[in-house]
Amino acid sequence: MLLGEIRQDIVRVCRDLAAAGLAVGTSGNVSVRSADLVAVTPSGLAYEDMSADLVGVHRLDGTPAEASAEPTSELPLHLAIYASTDATAVVHTHSLAATAVSTVADELPAIHYYVAMFGGPVRVAPYATYGTEQLARNVVAALRERTGCIMGSHGAVTIGPDLKTAHTRSLYLEWLSELYLRATAAGQPRLLPPGEIEAVADKLAAYGQRRLD
Ligand SMILES: [Zn+2]
Repeated sequence: MLLGEIRQDIVRVCRDLAAAGLAVGTSGNVSVRSADLVAVTPSGLAYEDMSADLVGVHRLDGTPAEASAEPTSELPLHLAIYASTDATAVVHTHSLAATAVSTVADELPAIHYYVAMFGGPVRVAPYATYGTEQLARNVVAALRERTGCIMGSHGAVTIGPDLKTAHTRSLYLEWLSELYLRATAAGQPRLLPPGEIEAVADKLAAYGQRRLD
């Protein structure tokens, strides 16, 4: 099986996303790039029914290399991200808090130092119909110098140098979104200055991205 281990990793992350409540039903999709191939979840399959052989492998132009099912309708989004960033993993969810933020804000501001793990305030990409090149363009623009973005009236995307990092970021983005919703419901949240976010980003880089106290 082409990219067998990667396809197994994708199945594990899908199950974790479902267990964590970040993916409901067939929503969301996950991919990993390896050289000029992309392993990506299939269309319309509940995460609990996912298995490695159903995770397809496609080329960077979207043509199948080894796929028994139709790829996610968001394959153009995943391919556009790989074409425009050095990411090797993409996690896209319709997680509730991030999607709620997407309906009321143009960005998730620096309410907590964790925004440093995304490169700064997290942008909300303008809405476009799912599966379209326009949506892919909007998301790529929102990801400029960021490792995650929120998609207007749709969901969230996180990227990383490996699947574990992209997955972890999806959990932190959801946590930050929940924090923002609670804070704005209670009042006007205080924001951290850009210099502090940069300092935390430097600290994270020094310690390695996974260490976050
Ligand atoms: Zn979606």
